[in-house]
Parts: sequence; structure tokens; C-alpha cells
Amino acid sequence: MLRVNNVDKIYKIGNKDLCVLKNVNLEIKKNEAVAIIGPSGAGKSTLLHLLGGLDLPSKGQVFFEDTDLANLSDVELSSIRNRRIGFVFQFYHLLPEFSALENVIMPALINREKNKKQIEDRALELLDLVGLFDRINHRPNELSGGQQQRLSIARALMNKPDLLLCDEPTGNLDSVNGKQICSLLLKLKEKNNTTIAIVTHDANVASIADRIIHIKDGIILN
Ligand code: ADP
Ligand code: MG
Repeated sequence: MLRVNNVDKIYKIGNKDLCVLKNVNLEIKKNEAVAIIGPSGAGKSTLLHLLGGLDLPSKGQVFFEDTDLANLSDVELSSIRNRRIGFVFQFYHLLPEFSALENVIMPALINREKNKKQIEDRALELLDLVGLFDRINHRPNELSGGQQQRLSIARALMNKPDLLLCDEPTGNLDSVNGKQICSLLLKLKEKNNTTIAIVTHDANVASIADRIIHIKDGIILN
């Protein structure tokens, strides 16, 4: 599903180069769930952004299926991101002015889907899956942290992504809510066979993965 080939990521800070990923090589197979673990500043989020085409490597390639993401136009890249990849962030990134239902529907609208009834039915199904059926008209600030994260997972699933990328999805939650997110991710892995990459510090979350990738100072350790 994903192949990272000799990737460096270098940020320029003033006239200094900061190399935050160093010769990274990894592969994630279809239907595999991997956890990416490492200390703060190790380059985990940077790596996840590259996996999802939110950013491009300074050197090397990231292949999504057989496509080098760097060879795509902006339009092609956004289309892959929107249709094939779901993102879940630590701080949810929900749209505050919109209801839970509208937040979930948004990716389908961006994808120019026209069948309103079909879109709404799918969004309601997802809200039910994440246990928010009784909160569909709430705005994000009328939801708890755990509920907002479950909402962001429903949104990430709206366009039936083949790949789900999660950046510390329980990083901002207490252990009870963290466990709910865990069992939700486990359900997705087992029922939908979604390919999942999760950056996490949380041992519970890591335990649902088939494989753990350790990263430190921009280097993959295993
Ligand atoms: P992690 O998610 O593992 O905590 P990050 O991938 O966010 O780490 O960051 C890795 C390193 O890259 C850190 O030292 C961070 O300061 C640096 N970094 C991240 N994003 C940028 C950026 N846009 N510009 C410059 N440096 C950055
Ligand atoms: Mg991070």
C-alpha cells in the first residue's frame, strides 16, 4: 500500500539545515496496522505527513500503491488525499461552525458527491458506528474531547479510505476515552480491513497494531 524509499526530510531554519528524517525506508502492506513509536521530536508526525502526501520528502520517494506522490499535480494529490486517505489528528481539527453531522459530511461534499440522501445516510451510519448518534446536531465545542475524536474518526472514514493515518489519536484524552478510541480502531481493523498507521505513545493503542516501528532522531530503529 505504501513504500518509503531512502527518504530524508530537511527543514531549513535560517541558513541551517535541520535533517529530521534520515534515510527512512519502510513498507506498509494492504490491511496491515502499524504503530509508529518514538520520543517527542523523533520525526513521527513528519513521517506521517509524508505518508499521507501532506508534505513531500527532501530526498527519496513515497509510493502510494505504485504512484510516487512527488510526481502528482496538486489536484491529483488532493484527490488521493480526499478519496483514499483518512486523517485523524491529536487535536481533532474539526470545523467549529458546523454540526457533528455536517463535519462528517464535509469530505463527501469536497469530493463533489451529489446524492444528498446517500451522503447523509452514510454519515449517520458512521456517527452510529462511533457512538455519536445522539449528538449529530452538536457543534464540536458542545462535545467532550473523546467525542470530538470519535467524530474526527467518523469524518476520516466518510470517503471510505483505503488508508487511515492517525497522529496520537489518544494523546489528548483520559484513559477511559483513550480505550474507546482503541476499541474503535480495532473494530475498523478487524471489520473493514482498513490499512492503518498510528503514531502513538499509548501502549493500548500500540497493542492493536500488527507491527511496531520505532523511530528516534529521524532514524528507523528496527
Ligand atoms: P514528533 O511528532 O516525533 O514529536 P515531529 O515530526 O513533529 O516530531 O518533528 C521532528 C523535528 O522536526 C522536531 O525537532 C521539530 O522541531 C522539527 N520540525 C517539525 N516541523 C517543522 C517545520 N515545519 N519546520 C522546522 N522544523 C520542524
Ligand atoms: Mg508529533
